[in-house]
Order: sequence, then C-alpha cells, then structure tokens
Amino acid sequence: MPSVHDEAPRFRTVQKLQLEYAPVTITQYESARTGMRVAVVDQPGPKINGYFAVATEIHDDSGAPHTLEHLVFMGSKQYHYKGLLDKLATRMYSTTNAWTSVDNTTYTLDTAGWAAFAQMLPVYLDHLIVPTLTDAGCYTEVHHIDGEGNDAGVVYSEMQATQNTSQELMDLELRRLMYPEGNGYRYETGGMMEALRVLTADRIRSYHKEMYQPKNMRIILTGEVDHNELLAILDRFESSIMEDVPSVEEPFQRPWITSSNTPRVKQTSVKAVYFPEEDESMGDIMIGYVGPRYDDHEKSNAMAVLTQYLCGSSISVLENTLVEQEQLCSMVYCQSEERLDSALIFYLSAVETDRLADVEKRFVALLKDVANQPLNMGYLHDCLKRLRRQVVARSENAGDFFSTLVLEDHLYGDRAGRDLKHLESLKEFDDLALLSEDAWRELLRGWLANAEHISILGVPSKELSEKTTANEKARVEAQRAKLGEQGMLQLAEQLKQAQAENNRPIPESLLEQFKVPDAETIHFISTTTARAGAARKMGKLENNIQTTIDKDDNASSLFIHFEHIPSNFVRINLNMCTAMVPIELKPLLTLYLANFFTTPVMRDGARIEFEDVVLELERETVSYSINTVRGNVEMLSVSFEAESDRYESIISWLRTMLFDAIDDPVRLSASLTKILADIPEEKRDADSMAMAVLNMEHFERTSSGRAQNTLSKALYLRRIRNWLKADEQMVLDKFKQLRQALHKPENFRVYVAANIEKLSRPVSAWNALTDGLDMNQPLRPLDDRKACLSDIGKNPGSLAYFVPLAATDSSFAVLAIKGPEGLTHPDVPALRVAAAYMDAVEGPLWNGVRGPGLAYGTFWRLALDTGVVTFTIYRSPDTYKAWTKCKEQVEGYASGELRLEKLALEGAISEIVLGMANEQPTMASAADASYLSQVIRGVPKDWNHQMLAKVRAVTPEQVKEAMKRYMVPAFNPATCNMFVTCAQVMCNDLVARFEKEGFRPQSRTLESFQDDYGLEPPDGNGEEADDAEDIEDGEDDEDDEPMDTPDSDEE
Ligand SMILES: [Zn+2]
Repeated sequence: MPSVHDEAPRFRTVQKLQLEYAPVTITQYESARTGMRVAVVDQPGPKINGYFAVATEIHDDSGAPHTLEHLVFMGSKQYHYKGLLDKLATRMYSTTNAWTSVDNTTYTLDTAGWAAFAQMLPVYLDHLIVPTLTDAGCYTEVHHIDGEGNDAGVVYSEMQATQNTSQELMDLELRRLMYPEGNGYRYETGGMMEALRVLTADRIRSYHKEMYQPKNMRIILTGEVDHNELLAILDRFESSIMEDVPSVEEPFQRPWITSSNTPRVKQTSVKAVYFPEEDESMGDIMIGYVGPRYDDHEKSNAMAVLTQYLCGSSISVLENTLVEQEQLCSMVYCQSEERLDSALIFYLSAVETDRLADVEKRFVALLKDVANQPLNMGYLHDCLKRLRRQVVARSENAGDFFSTLVLEDHLYGDRAGRDLKHLESLKEFDDLALLSEDAWRELLRGWLANAEHISILGVPSKELSEKTTANEKARVEAQRAKLGEQGMLQLAEQLKQAQAENNRPIPESLLEQFKVPDAETIHFISTTTARAGAARKMGKLENNIQTTIDKDDNASSLFIHFEHIPSNFVRINLNMCTAMVPIELKPLLTLYLANFFTTPVMRDGARIEFEDVVLELERETVSYSINTVRGNVEMLSVSFEAESDRYESIISWLRTMLFDAIDDPVRLSASLTKILADIPEEKRDADSMAMAVLNMEHFERTSSGRAQNTLSKALYLRRIRNWLKADEQMVLDKFKQLRQALHKPENFRVYVAANIEKLSRPVSAWNALTDGLDMNQPLRPLDDRKACLSDIGKNPGSLAYFVPLAATDSSFAVLAIKGPEGLTHPDVPALRVAAAYMDAVEGPLWNGVRGPGLAYGTFWRLALDTGVVTFTIYRSPDTYKAWTKCKEQVEGYASGELRLEKLALEGAISEIVLGMANEQPTMASAADASYLSQVIRGVPKDWNHQMLAKVRAVTPEQVKEAMKRYMVPAFNPATCNMFVTCAQVMCNDLVARFEKEGFRPQSRTLESFQDDYGLEPPDGNGEEADDAEDIEDGEDDEDDEPMDTPDSDEE
C-alpha cells in the first residue's frame, strides 16, 4: 500500500455528536471534492460494520436498483474480476451483503478488526462507484433465456421466488393505492418479472450513473475505527475516481427530498388481494396510514408511543381486544416505515379467510372507539418510558441501532446535519411526557382513527395457485415453440459465452497482494466470571468480582454464574432442565412457553389478572421472554433485561411466575388459539419443514426439542384444545404436572450479566426465589440431546423422504450423516475448515451450484452435541441436479482429484475467525459467549481461542481426510438420511431420479410425520377432526379436500 501521507484528506468534520444517554460518539464528515458523506459510530469490540447507502428513487418496475445490487459484485475499474470482492472478503475476516428496499440500496461490509476492514474499503468502493457493468454480466445475473427455453438469471429467479408471495403482493398493492402515479414509493424496486425480461443493460448503466455518485452515498461505520486512516483511505480513493464521476458542482436532484410530498390518503379503500395458496383457510390484513413527515421528530416519536399504546403488547388495547379476547387474529402489530412522510402500517396475521372483511371493519371501529373514550394515561406514560428505556438499552449495542438511524438521515435528513443532531438527546421523550390527554387524542384521531386509509385483505386462492402455474407453463411453452430447437441452441451458446467472459479466473497474485492481518490484532472483549452455589463446583476463581460475590455468599446451593460487564442494565437468565417432564406431556411445552408471561398470578392472597402482570413487567423491564436455551434446545430459558436497580425486583418476579401462577383455562385457550392459528403458515415454510421432518425422525419422543416441533404440536395441541372443551380438569391436571416437573431448584441454572459491583446483594437477593424450596437435591445434569437420538438418527443410511408441498414451487433438501461427537473431538478443527472451504462465497459449491442457478445456496452444519453432520441444499429448482453437482465437487476434493487452493484454505480459516467475532461483538454478547462455553458446552472460557489456534494448524491432508470421513458419506445412500420438501409437480420425478442413484426414496405427506404422543381425541374418534385443516372447528366443509392425496400414489 502506498504511503498514507500524500496530502491532508479533503474531508471536513461536519459535526461530532456526544450522546447524552450513552457512551457513544458519532462523527459526521463530508468530502469537499465529491460531497461523499461519512458517519462513524465509535464502539469497542472486535467487529467493524460498514454500510454503504445509496438513495435510490425510480419511477418504474424495471428493477434497475435491484439489478445494480447484484451487478456491482461482478467487477470494477481496478478489479475486473467477478467474485474478487467476495474472495477477498473471505480472506479478510469479512462478509459482504446488500439489500434493495423501496428507497435505498445499501451494501454492507462486516469485518473482524480494523486492519482488515481498511484493506477492503477502497476495493469495495471501487466496485460501487465504478463497476464494470458488462453486457455479459447483465445477461447472466439479471435475465436471460437458457438453452431449454426457460427464463433465468440470478435476479430473475429471485423475483420469481418472491413476487407471488402474499407479503409481496399485499405490500405492493398497498403502495400502489397509497401513493399517486409518478411517486417513487409506488414501484417494485426489486423488478417485476415481466419488466426484468425486457430490461436493457444500457438502462441499468444510466441508472447507475445517475444514482451512484459519491454525493448520493453515505458511508456508515461502527466499531473501533481509526478515523485518520479512514479519511486518508477515502481521500486516496477519491483521487482515483475524479475522472469518472460528475463534478461536485454539477446540478443534482437529490432523490426523495426534491420529490413532492405524499398527499394524505383522500379516500379510504378496502381491497382484496389474492395470493396463490392451496390452503385457503387463513389470510392476512394490512392497513396503511400516511404518518408525520420525517423531519417532524416530535410527532414521529409521539406516533411511536401511540402505536406502542395501541398494539405493542398483549395488554395494549388493539391486541388485547382482537387477539386475546375476540381471537380474530394471532397478532396485531404496527410498523412505521420512515419515508419522506412516514407510513404507519398495521398487520393482522392469521385471520380466517371468510372473516377478513369483518375483522378489518372491527379494527377500524375499535380504533374509533379508543379515540372517543378516555385514554389510559397511566399506561400511555408507561409506554413512553419503556420506549425511552429501550432506546438507552439498544444504544449499548450501538452499531446495529445507530446505523439504521443514520441511514434514514441520509435519505431524508437535512444535509447540514440538523436532523442527525437531534439524536444527541432524548429530550423529545421528556417533552412528550408533558402532552395533555387532549393533545394525545388529537394525534390519535388526526393520524389514525379519523384518517382515511388503505386496507388490503390478503386472500389465499387455490385457483390462482393453479392458474399461475398453468399460465407460466403455457408462456414458457409458447416461448420454446417460438424459439425452436435452433433458437434454443443459439441461446445456449450465447449463455456459454457470457459465462466464459464473466468467469475469467482471478490471478492468485492479485489476491496475495492483500496481506491477511494477524488474528491477534482483533480486539475481543473479555468479561470477568464469578460463581456462587452449585456453580462453584466448576472451579475456584480468583478475581475481584469473585471476591465481591464471596462477601455476599449465603451458603445456598442455587447455581449462579456471573459475568461482569460495564453496563447500566442487568440481564438475568434462568435455565431449566426438562428431562424430568413425562414424555406424554412434552408437547405441552409449547403451550407452557406461550402462556408463561400471559397468565394470572396470586400475590399476597389476591388474584392479579394477566393484564396487570404484563403491565407491571413492562414497567420494570426493557424486555422479558421465555425460549429454549441457546446451544441446547432441550432446555428452557426465562430471560429478563432491566435497569440494574431492578435486580431484586426481577428475582421476585421469577418467583411469582414460577410458583404463584394460576392455570387459567381461558388464558390457556387463548394461547392455544394463537399457536394453532400460526401452524398453517409454519407448514408453508418448505425449508423449515424439511428440517422439521428430520427432527421428527432423528429424535425420540423423549426429546423436548422434538416435542415443540410444528409436526408434534399440530396434532397434539389441537387435541388438547378439544380436551379443554370436553374435560377442562384433565388439561389443568396435565399442565400442573408439567409445571411441577420443571419448577424445581435442581433443574435451575441462573446466569447474571451485569455490572456486578452495582448490585448490593448479588447472591443473597436470590433467597427471594428459593425461600422454602427443597434445596437439598443434587443439581441435575444438563439435558442430553444425544441421548434423545433415535436409532435412525444415530445410524443414518436408511431414509430418503420426499414431501410434496403446495406452498412451494422450489425444493429444499437436508442430508444427514454421522459426524464427530463432542466439541473436543480431534477431527473437529479440520472438519470446520473443510466446511468453511466448501461453503465459501465463490467457493466450490457456490460456483458449482449457485452460479449456474441450481440452488440459492448450500451449507454444512455440525451438530457436535449429537454427532450429526447435515448438508442443506437451499431453494433449488432441481434438487437432483444440485445434489449431483455437489457430490462431484465434494468427492473431487476428498480424493485429491481437485486441488485444495492455498488461498481458499486461508480464506476458510479467516471465515472461522469472523464467525468467532460475530458470536461476541458487544459486551453483553461476550458475556453470553462465556456462559455458553463454560456452562452449556462444558468447555473452558477461552475454548474459542484454543479452537482458533487448532484451526490455524490444520493441514490440507487433514482437510481431505475430514471430507472423506464426514462429507463424502452425505452422497452415499448407505450412509445418509435424506429429507426433501418440494413442489408437488417435482416430487415423482425426483423420487425416480434418486432411486436410480441407489436410494430407496418414499414420497410421504407432511401430515404423515405428525405425532400425537399418544393423546387420544376426547370423543374417541378424532380422525375427521384431526386430518382436517389446522384451524378452528374441523366440522367445516373443508374436509372433502384433503391435501395429501393428489400425486403421491406410492405410499
Ligand atoms: Zn437480490
């Protein structure tokens, strides 16, 4: 790299903001030469996050913005090679990504350590500002017709997969109705398929010229950034592009800001939007309002408080009425889209299709009711305070939080920095606290209750599903006929030429110019561990935090693990073992989780309703939740985050929720309704359903993870709900039994991350939880997931299931094989390198599969706790072809026929380093990682660092050996289990082709994998109700169209 000191960088400091509520500095710079803008958010930690944001406005559906998002990665003025950026990123502890939304295209560079980031930065910028944008690149990446007459191209295929989803169709229609002709928010920036088919390379190039000017770009960096070096690099980069970009004086229409404002919606309209879907039982609703202007910060914040008040939690009025009481939908939430004038969009999910129109009317009427009655000012102020608290808490993880705010400022803020400056204080929240009830009501009426709006009813349509498929088939047929054999041959040749031009190999010498910084230069955050109670058995610690803990020791055996971090907040997790839960009750865990925080409790002899429980919890915390434990899904975790002075209060809440909750049939029923309403949607997710089927087959009923699977809860919980109607006591007894099995101190491991020195009684405060409990039982071992494996899971090699799904037009495959067991297994380092090597962006599988469009991606996963390796082929138009290609690559590298490249191996190791940094980017996550290693995984605190040393010592021979042992078997029918979900039309063909490879494939319906855990339906004859849809009341007339018969003739 040339010297940094040619000339002082021509960037001026616009402003330096010192936030009043968090130890965060934001510095804003601007280039005098080009007008390029930069913002740096300082934050300690191993990660540097870079965002390169371009404001993109367009008035058509051509998809030009989205195509650029892909094309800039195809090469630049200085670096003519497709894939160089990604190859370099892999080498430099980095990943790149990008997104296109309606108003911006943003590129990201995510790196461990500044040294690597600094080398990547100018290369990335070269790609953004002066990309090659060749005809060949546009041809393969955007759209072309392949040798078989099918439309293809990376962007095209992506839109093909998403354009007809309910979410996309509804969102687009909403914008079409909210925004007038000629307004940029109306358009599909991703590109409509029909428009992409005719989009030209010239149009894309001219759009780039117009939008990708330095003055329309904002670079946002968060992390430990060297400001001087940054400005020097940017200055040098600018010198290299001055010839290529318009002069800074040239007139420039700043996108959005120079466009006209959004008029308020003139007249309310309600429109049905049909989306293709076999299961016609459930739809969704979107209701959109035009909100305050971007720069009206006070009103914007007020609307954030109001929408929180309306539907921020289960006790807020819309959610409480529509979800909890009337059970019309599974969720109501509001999302505010920051635009020139914000859009306030309400979503009502999982609404019964024939009630969509009524539910929309009910929503609107309810909103008016609320505005006409006295507001609950106490709760409104609670919402205000809670929002403020959340802002402060999120500021501690500054990177992620401020990058969004700065990005919005880039799009809509004042160029002089006035809007950004308002981030400095939270004064607006204080001002809002002074508003009168009338003022709030006026806001509510003016912007929402009395405002005209656009409602979209999303209606599932089986007919449309069939029609879409048929039309597309006919269109392609016609296209083929028109092209003829000759035409298609010609196109095949044209594609080959374009691919050859794109895929010129990158000279190794070019990549070697970039020296990989030593991993030691990455500043990992270290935390201090201390232990109390049964946790002391893990080893004696000597540090000042342990001394603090020892001083407060109360001789209790409760297991407590402390991590000391500098924070104003305390994070408390209570982890629970589930092994003692009787098998036949395990599927109730889903209900237990859903109900845990929304149940009435007893306090001081009085019953407190769930609304008041939630009200108080919200008042006291930043957040609270219950979930499975990260790193061990057999276990459960109750988590709280709150200000440090709430420590003891949170502990008493834990006591209340665990031991004084009342099992209320009404509440249980409400939770069940919500769970069951979401199941059809879960079943539509073909990717997660492939994994769900694997879990059903690989695990025994003893596994709590399996019991919470969609395919377990679908049948079991529907029956539980029927039982709740038929014999309430029977369900209450079961639920009580479940709670008693869980709520025992010997199941508990407590984890506290906080500034321990701020806690007055860090250990003895826990007496409030354990008072009167039997503390003499020995701590139970962690739940053992391995012990829950079925014989099939222990010895893969007998199954190949193909599950046709109506909801996908693609296919997803998971292959499972035996892997190394335990984190300390000697093969683990080499296998991790092998997996990173094969999975790398621009690596063997990427180029083999993603490049030619055989799949969106592939990845290897090592489940070291169970000793299983899985390989996933994600979203493929032809799983068989993708599988064949992967097999060829893996076998080639394992046998030595294909050579492992030195640079790519270095890249694989660098990926693993980045993975480590990603696990612990902030104080709180570093604390979590320490707990996870020591307590959940049972390895030393510095295990990650030890692993890193081992990974770096791996030899190419060891990598090949690991591939032979743990990857090649994934392509052998005798050693792998295969689980595929796919479009119905693909199923028979895939089965036939895999059969020829020696598999014994079976086509089975998704429903056939469901498990009822031996729970009979109440009337002893549940078959008709059970096999019907997953929604309320199996007695409706849907019964005559079971989903499972059409094309699966072979059972
Ligand atoms: Zn894309």
